[in-house]
Amino acid sequence: MKRFFPIFLILSFHVTFSQTYFLTADRIFDGENVHTGWGILVEGNKIASAGPVSTISVPAQAIKINYPNSTLLPGLIEGHSHLFLYPYNITDWDTQVLKETDSYRTVRATVQAKNTLMAGFTTARDLGTEGAGYSDVALKRAINEGIVPGPRLLVAGRAIVSTGSYGPKGYDYDQQIMLGAETADGNDLIRVTRDQIGKGVDIVKVYADYRWGNHNETMPTFSLEELKLIVETAKSSGRPVVAHASTAEGMLRAILAGVETIEHGDGGTPEVYRLMKEKNISLCPTLAATESIGQYRGWKKGSNPEPEAIKKKKASFKLAIESGVTLLAGGDVGVFAHGENVLELELMVEYGLSPLAVLTSATLVNAKAFHLEEQLGSLKKGLKADIIIVSGDPTKTVSDLRKVKFVMKDGVIYRQEK
Ligand SMILES: [Zn+2]
Repeated sequence: MKRFFPIFLILSFHVTFSQTYFLTADRIFDGENVHTGWGILVEGNKIASAGPVSTISVPAQAIKINYPNSTLLPGLIEGHSHLFLYPYNITDWDTQVLKETDSYRTVRATVQAKNTLMAGFTTARDLGTEGAGYSDVALKRAINEGIVPGPRLLVAGRAIVSTGSYGPKGYDYDQQIMLGAETADGNDLIRVTRDQIGKGVDIVKVYADYRWGNHNETMPTFSLEELKLIVETAKSSGRPVVAHASTAEGMLRAILAGVETIEHGDGGTPEVYRLMKEKNISLCPTLAATESIGQYRGWKKGSNPEPEAIKKKKASFKLAIESGVTLLAGGDVGVFAHGENVLELELMVEYGLSPLAVLTSATLVNAKAFHLEEQLGSLKKGLKADIIIVSGDPTKTVSDLRKVKFVMKDGVIYRQEK
């Protein structure tokens, strides 16, 4: 009996991939614009046509899918996730990093990946396992092989931090404490960057600043020269470097070193944003992480005054919008629950962007920033069939993205509500 199992698997995949679907909705957001009267023809794992229904010849065998009062969009792209973390109000970060085994964390990550996909996020850039080694490389493989459902992943493995800066902190020096990322300094950064590449990362992530100031304030970590070493080494393998940075100086060094995206950016100034725009470096503001941590510390949104961190975040986000820097959609999800990814998009609207601009960030803009726009992020003939349908109209009310009815990734349906 066992011998026949693989054959069954191959057959069932074959059947799935040869399927043809014709999808329609009240409105279709194609990654940039909203259309009515459009349809999407999916053949196998690709979009065969996208446009006005009258222009598409629908094969007789096509399975027709439509929901009342619905919006069809490209699969959403999560710009900053940590699939190996879960909300800190359930288990604090130190405990997750230090006490939970990689095996346990991987089991959790498979469920967290599934929740992400079911929420309509068909691609995610996962920026560090925080102590779970290269388990993200393995998770990505298992998803690609169809073993577990999850978003298409770009992974960063362990990520790189400077000696002395990163946590967990505050333990007796007699003990060797495992950190949430890999330390390296000076010329050793070349070896560590290459080692991470060899172990399968798609992206090299570096922490350009961290809370290691004299009063625990955030201060730059690596020198400009060190950051340049990382970028140069990663670049020769064709990989981008992305930087965690929230001080103006940390951001500036990362920009000058040639990173592609800056994560968080709380302390961004008009000058820093101007330079980012000039050098085509995108900002991933992770508003939802700041909000979630504020709430874990007791802030009751709506009834208590806003904590300083939120006020600062709102002000710098406003400056970022005014500067015209490219804004990515990525919430640092993992700090808050996987599957709640839409929270970041809701906050981007709350903090001043239009719903349409936010939807564009979460699809086409993220796809471009991650060098995926030839494959996904919009609805065009030849692109991968990553498609979601939600109830309502998220182009006006972004929270309607929570009303997911249908999720297709690579032409395979993962969620189909009645
Ligand atoms: Zn993060």
